[in-house]
Amino acid sequence: MALIVQKFGGSSVGDADKIKHVAKRVIETQKAGNQVVVVVSAMGDTTDELMDLANQVTDNPSPRELDMLLTAGERISMALLALAINAAGAQSRSFTGSQAGIVTDSKHGNARIAEVTPDRIREALDEGDIAIVAGFQGFNRETRDITTLGRGGSDTTAVALAAALNADVCEIYSDVDGVYTADPRQIPAARKLDYIDVESMLELAAAGAKILHIRAVEFARRHNVDLRVRSTFSTDPGTRVISGNRGENMEESVVSGVATDKSQTKIIVVGIPDLPGKAAELFNIVAEAGANIDMIVQNTATGVDVDDKVSDISFTLPKGDSAKVVAALEANQAKIGYRELEVDHEIGKISVVGAGMRTHSGVSATLFNALAKAGINIEMISTSEIRISVVTDITEADDAARAIHTAFGLDSEIEAVVYAGTGR
Ligand code: ADP
Ligand code: ASP
Ligand code: MG
Repeated sequence: MALIVQKFGGSSVGDADKIKHVAKRVIETQKAGNQVVVVVSAMGDTTDELMDLANQVTDNPSPRELDMLLTAGERISMALLALAINAAGAQSRSFTGSQAGIVTDSKHGNARIAEVTPDRIREALDEGDIAIVAGFQGFNRETRDITTLGRGGSDTTAVALAAALNADVCEIYSDVDGVYTADPRQIPAARKLDYIDVESMLELAAAGAKILHIRAVEFARRHNVDLRVRSTFSTDPGTRVISGNRGENMEESVVSGVATDKSQTKIIVVGIPDLPGKAAELFNIVAEAGANIDMIVQNTATGVDVDDKVSDISFTLPKGDSAKVVAALEANQAKIGYRELEVDHEIGKISVVGAGMRTHSGVSATLFNALAKAGINIEMISTSEIRISVVTDITEADDAARAIHTAFGLDSEIEAVVYAGTGR
């Protein structure tokens, strides 16, 4: 008997009919002779709506209470799915994250899973039940409080449970047929991938492709979980996330996909003295403010005398972190000795990712030519071994992504299907 973990995202459980449809699929999996653990997200855009409500009652919600509020979303869908499964004649039981043994650190809003002790899940499975678990949540032993794993974190709940239960496969069900060469909502010519190597998937997730939560991919890599992305609304086998390359007979593609991220801000620190230790001073302050920075670019110093030489340092960070970083930098202006700060929220980051970049030259030339031909100005560039990212004005980001997708020959003749969801 195989053990399968199936995770259904918000759009898959968006209303009562969809929940009944999921119930049917889950029962079929069990009837095919498997033990089934189901992880669910909150219905539709519930998490965003709860967040909006919190923001209507306060400008500064306490992280503890926000987690209490947001975890309610997943409790609604887990119970409704259990009711639907039981009404359809099978046996199921739902569990909150803490009942399922998801133990995390105490960082509200973005907690990391420290340990998984799924005793109650095993008991339920041993008794022939389908176990349903609320995604996105856990609890901390020291504070005894409920935590959340960060937006999109139900994927991570599923993979963590699959690892702890030594499941045969972890299937992530969403509103598209699998991992595509780009977000099919943004680029309908995107092509579904049958396989993607785990390194490229990590880079795509980090670059803003929200089809998989990055920590779910990290977990799968570390614990060798057989991870697949599929659609709730079709029978397409989806995409397998695999370690290494795809075996002897298949050539590694140069580029796996393109991702767009419009959630970042660019800060330019203008006129920093060109002296050893200044970058360290600057980024210590940014780190103390608690921000995760992404791209960093330092311009060549300008100025006539050695003593007068100044340079500019630009970096990007999540929009939500920018206010606290700006405040921290302003408080330290005299100490660092910079002239001024420029803050630009209207940026888009486009990344092209592919394991084959390690061995192929000319990838950056193709990318820059594509943007030049489209008349799009590049504001920043950064690269890793298997990724190139550029920052453009936010109004040009979609055009840039499309131009790059076409230039790398990723366009498909068949239009991608998006089955449900609002893309929020
Ligand atoms: P769920 O609610 O099922 O977790 P998400 O909204 O978190 O679903 O993720 C699915 C969405 O991810 C898709 O509807 C699609 O718009 C978006 N997406 C972004 N990049 C990609 C990609 N490369 N392949 C597939 N989907 C992508
Ligand atoms: N409901 C949570 C969110 O919207 C978690 C998830 O869907 O994975 O972020
Ligand atoms: Mg998701």
